[in-house]
Amino acid sequence: MRALSPSFSEYTWAPSTEEIARTYELDPSQVVRFDGNVPAQPAPFARPGAIAHALAAVNSYAHGGFPTLVEGIARYAGVGPENVVLGAGADDLILLCARTFAGPGDVVAVAHERTYPLYRIAAYLAGAEVGDVDPVVTFCCRPNNPTGELGLLPDARPLVVDEAYFEYAGETAVGLIDDGVVAIRTFSKSFGLAGARVGYALADAETAAELNRRQAPQPISGISAALALLGLADPPDVAAQVEERDRCARALVALGLEPLPSATNFLFVPVDDPEALGQALLRSGIVVRVYPDGIRFNVRDREDDDLLLATLAQALDRPAPVAEAAGRTVRHLRATAETRMRVRLGLDGASRVVVQTGAGIYDHLLEQLAFHAGFDLLLEGVGDLETGDHHTAEDAALALGEALDHALGDRRGIARYGDAVVPMDDALARAAVDLGGRPAAELRFERDPGLAEHLLRSLSQAGRLAINIEASGRDDHHVAEAAFKAVGRALRAAVRVAGTGVPSTKGVV
Ligand code: PMP
Repeated sequence: MRALSPSFSEYTWAPSTEEIARTYELDPSQVVRFDGNVPAQPAPFARPGAIAHALAAVNSYAHGGFPTLVEGIARYAGVGPENVVLGAGADDLILLCARTFAGPGDVVAVAHERTYPLYRIAAYLAGAEVGDVDPVVTFCCRPNNPTGELGLLPDARPLVVDEAYFEYAGETAVGLIDDGVVAIRTFSKSFGLAGARVGYALADAETAAELNRRQAPQPISGISAALALLGLADPPDVAAQVEERDRCARALVALGLEPLPSATNFLFVPVDDPEALGQALLRSGIVVRVYPDGIRFNVRDREDDDLLLATLAQALDRPAPVAEAAGRTVRHLRATAETRMRVRLGLDGASRVVVQTGAGIYDHLLEQLAFHAGFDLLLEGVGDLETGDHHTAEDAALALGEALDHALGDRRGIARYGDAVVPMDDALARAAVDLGGRPAAELRFERDPGLAEHLLRSLSQAGRLAINIEASGRDDHHVAEAAFKAVGRALRAAVRVAGTGVPSTKGVV
């Protein structure tokens, strides 16, 4: 083996979610990752049906490469296809640029003292050293990770600019590709495809050709290419993430902290004892990146970020700058070939409810149920709606049921029974629920918009609860809505913490 520079140190990953859960005696669903600088959810386009064609050809190479993807990237970036180089994530292209520009005896410059570690790693792997004297190439991370800062572009050439967070910053050096600049970008961040490993470099035609000559024959998979193409057809709108980042920054200021200005989806916060703070957060399942002088975390969504902010406030012994998180909260993912459902369910919530699966009226009915139960619920999903709403609606109800079962734990201390009568214009629904652990559904609907009864049956199965309903009326929508509201009201009573014992003469539920 060829010896590496004594200054080389390899890339180190954060521990896995399972390992964190084991170490801190948490359920893996309680571990919330703020350390990957990626969106909290995949985009709706990333679903099993979307890659069916690519999967059907998984036995084959993509003979001739991925010209459609290259053209799509060129259009997106405002360059020609001859300017595009594909790679397995930005990392692959950083390594490719280093070995293309540098070799033994060369010096590679890295623009910021504190930056993404892979430029140094790539330089050493190419056999070069890292320094500032007569560099053969300079790497610059813009906006910079971990600070989030959008710094000035160095004058050095050749210059490789890592624009992994381009979409959040909106600034690019691509206009300089004919002036010795190579821009590297990725589908891992704003497109939400980190696991698919697709990135690209943009360079003048001659440099791009040289990079392609030295690249692996097929650096990405057909499945990844299909996902990236779908992403390009529906490019990300980062406005909500940027707004959420700014909200978090304001909350941090209210906490007496001073986050650095950021042009990305993450914030760097200087703190006195980052190591201790990181540990304190980890004990609550919150994973941030720890640096010698601060912590870095990416934004997720309002509730997740509030959880982080509240836990941070607690660790620093300061008043929380945000609303309290709901008690008995679980996160649950249900994925099949037909649908993907993500649930965050807080039983002791404040009826903060969003159900978004595309299943029309059934999203609305599940929202009604959770709202009237007083739950905090985020149920986001995508399904094969082209086959109708059956799979999507059913899996949404199953996912909610599974999350409910999980959130109830061993069901110790809960009231167990609940009932409610809810009128809705012409309709009237009476519901009673039993959280004793045995699934049963006695559902007497006078009429049904289609799947209302089926959804409650699915909920009862997956949540291990008995639901008994009588619902009548002249309008099928009203009948269903009254029924779901009544089940919600009944659940509100049944999940209440009423003591510490097992609510059954059997001693178990
Ligand atoms: N560059 C920077 C600045 C990054 O932060 C990251 C991801 N952490 C990467 C590159 C690697 O991205 P990819 O998943 O595209 O390899």
